[in-house]
Amino acid sequence: MSYTGPDFDPPRPHRSPLRRPLTVLLAALVAGALLGWGVYAAVGGPRDGGGTERAAGVRTPPVPSSDAPAASGDDAKEPAGGSGSAAATASPGRRAPSPSAPAASAPLAGKVVVIDPGHNPGNFRYPSRINRKVDIGTHRKECDTTGTSTDSGYAEAAFTLDVAHRLRDLLTRQGATVRLTQDGDRAYGPCVDERARIGNEARADAAVSIHADGSGAGNRGFHVILPGPVHAGAADTRPIVGPSRDLGTRIAGHFVRVTGSAPSNYVGGGTGLVTRTDLGGLNLSKVPKVFVECGNMRDGRDAALLTSGAWRQKAAQGISGGIVSFLRG
Ligand code: ZN
Repeated sequence: MSYTGPDFDPPRPHRSPLRRPLTVLLAALVAGALLGWGVYAAVGGPRDGGGTERAAGVRTPPVPSSDAPAASGDDAKEPAGGSGSAAATASPGRRAPSPSAPAASAPLAGKVVVIDPGHNPGNFRYPSRINRKVDIGTHRKECDTTGTSTDSGYAEAAFTLDVAHRLRDLLTRQGATVRLTQDGDRAYGPCVDERARIGNEARADAAVSIHADGSGAGNRGFHVILPGPVHAGAADTRPIVGPSRDLGTRIAGHFVRVTGSAPSNYVGGGTGLVTRTDLGGLNLSKVPKVFVECGNMRDGRDAALLTSGAWRQKAAQGISGGIVSFLRG
């Protein structure tokens, strides 16, 4: 493992002197990375303020897809004990924003965030439609895929919608205008080209696609997928490569701190960051965009996290923290 610590957030002008002691503490912990991820969870878990300054992440090479279509996704129900809504309800500060609050007090007022819940619970019912090819600039690729599932049948498409809802709530409370590419309100899809187009047409300040991976048992951890430079056909990611890396680096850093999950042990070289040029949702994006693979549904220990509503709330908080950090930068 070459990971050298949670070095994700690029250096930024400081916002709060109160964060200095924590930064110093974390810097010491980075130097002593052998202490393990539990330390980061202990230090960063309860805090998701979005400001601990870090050095930039490490560039990683493209890797092949490990998010192949797998399960039919025929069970989108919450597993026993998942209690997502209960966990969310119990989370502190889960109140609707006051309609009378001045917009200026909301840190993300005027910002637009597009959340793309990966796949669709209905995709498996429409194989011919989701298998039809769409142009992603570099080549033609399937409109969409069914996504994976845990061994017990918790579908990735259910996971992505749940995290998307939690993330929407968190960002809306901060004043952002949030749009989902799908909300369980359509039979299948949208296709990956439309998912990108929704972010583009919304002129999103940030877009994030939510996923969980379908890799082999023993492969664990999260990773954030960044767009690589692509200039072919309708795809031109050159303007968004830099800001997307900034966005993804911040999300990875906050995700580590809030969830306590380690970066992937099977892609990204321990950085939690992976660059790809084969994803239509990234290739066709004109706005800063990343994918977050929150964990591996096919690993039992990751699955135990992914099926926990309390953990999904943390995942949403980690992603939210990165977005807020990026947008306020
Ligand atoms: Zn996926």
